[in-house]
Amino acid sequence: DWSSDVCSSDLNSRRMGCGSSSAYKGGEEPKENKEEIPNDTKNIVDVEDDKVAVESSSSTKKVIWTQSEAKDDSNVDPNFNLIMNDSLMKNEWPAVIEDHKKASEEGGHVSLMAQCISKEIFEKYKDTKTKTGWTIARAINTGTCYPSSFVGCHAGDKESYYDFKDLFFPVVEKYHKGYKLDGSMSHVTNMDVDNIKIDLTDSAKAKIISTRIRVARNLSFFPLNPGGGLDNRMAVADLMEKVFASDSFDDDLKGNFFRHTTMTEEQTQSLVDDHFLFRGKDKMQAASGYHQYWPEGRGVFHSKSKEFVVWLNEGDHLRIISMEQGGDVKRVFERLGRAIKCVKEGIKNIKSYDEEKDGPLFMSDEMFGMITCCPSNLGTGMRGSVHIKVPLLIAKMGLDGIDKICREINCQARGSSGEHSEVVDRIDVSNWRRLGYQESQLVTDMITCVNKISAMEDDLAQESTVMVAESDME
Ligand code: ADP
Ligand code: MG
Repeated sequence: DWSSDVCSSDLNSRRMGCGSSSAYKGGEEPKENKEEIPNDTKNIVDVEDDKVAVESSSSTKKVIWTQSEAKDDSNVDPNFNLIMNDSLMKNEWPAVIEDHKKASEEGGHVSLMAQCISKEIFEKYKDTKTKTGWTIARAINTGTCYPSSFVGCHAGDKESYYDFKDLFFPVVEKYHKGYKLDGSMSHVTNMDVDNIKIDLTDSAKAKIISTRIRVARNLSFFPLNPGGGLDNRMAVADLMEKVFASDSFDDDLKGNFFRHTTMTEEQTQSLVDDHFLFRGKDKMQAASGYHQYWPEGRGVFHSKSKEFVVWLNEGDHLRIISMEQGGDVKRVFERLGRAIKCVKEGIKNIKSYDEEKDGPLFMSDEMFGMITCCPSNLGTGMRGSVHIKVPLLIAKMGLDGIDKICREINCQARGSSGEHSEVVDRIDVSNWRRLGYQESQLVTDMITCVNKISAMEDDLAQESTVMVAESDME
């Protein structure tokens, strides 16, 4: 009952939660972290709460809209604001999912969430709230609003995966094909660069514009961002600001931290355009709550060379990124391994965090590996990619055609500016698997796929020279 958390008559503070009664109770609090972390858990679906919000919306800052409200409100931006399916807002089974399922029987994709959920599962869980107040209604909003989203459900904390097991376990097993959540498998990390036994071909290297490997990481003493609120995001940013200013980084990794709230629009846009920063602006991510309170608490750290980058609070608390021009994948991987260690040591020092006593610093467990907001990132949280120019292949089969080939060898193709973006002149080829495989194996997957895509481009180039030569003879 939210009313027990209310400590002022101001609706906004009701929605934001206030003080100790809403502090995060997930897992063991680290010893040195005695101060309670205020946490907005009031952005959970609560009919009563929302009714109040609607009634007094003129005087308060709304943080959730229904689809019907948003339709008539030009101030609501679906790329950033959290818009809920109307039934879900009332905590009722959204029958529209049944239509989505039917439509997909006639071909076409429907989210993994829609494939795995049923009315029975929804009814079973609809009154469950996880430690941080996450609900099944919030969890399935993206896939309900956007049936074409690939995964379609999100976690608000580590407990979500277990508390809503009948939904999340099948989704995870469907995404991470071959991984079984029956307790028989566990996830193992291996960042050893010597474990990568193959190389890019010279021909592939020549086509590569840049290489980037990122991992998602969340701090175990905060809820995941969709389950948290403004205070949560601010606390992550404040902590990381101290870490970045500390002396935890190797010389080549030292750099500066920038908050979205202090950067100019031009600065932000130029970092986005140059692929160093997340766009925000994504309706599917917005529907999961990733962009609530935008741009507060968001930020980016980058080293002087911009070869080491950390994103703050896009969706996950941290995205640790190693990137550079060209195709020296092993160098990028080696730097990533070092960077993760430096980030972790930095946080441990600032928080006086002792993993032996306090448990893993990064939210994780043996079965799921790293815990992330999106089930697709569980395990390594790693996506290693190259941007590669394959114009003939793009002309011949388009992004979808190339993606199909990549999928057969455990990789995927994306547009020129990442997820949900168009192809301009290059494509992004990356590993698809993340859970149950070592990081070095996933980089190996990526190299294998890039070599294949490059060889196909070479074959097309060869064919077209032969065709030109033949037409010359006529
Ligand atoms: P992520 O899985 O890290 O969220 P996205 O597909 O959302 O990745 O892309 C995030 C940003 O990183 C985009 O700007 C994208 O163009 C950029 N990016 C991805 N791979 C590369 C690469 N190999 N080189 C340069 N930029 C890249
Ligand atoms: Mg992304």
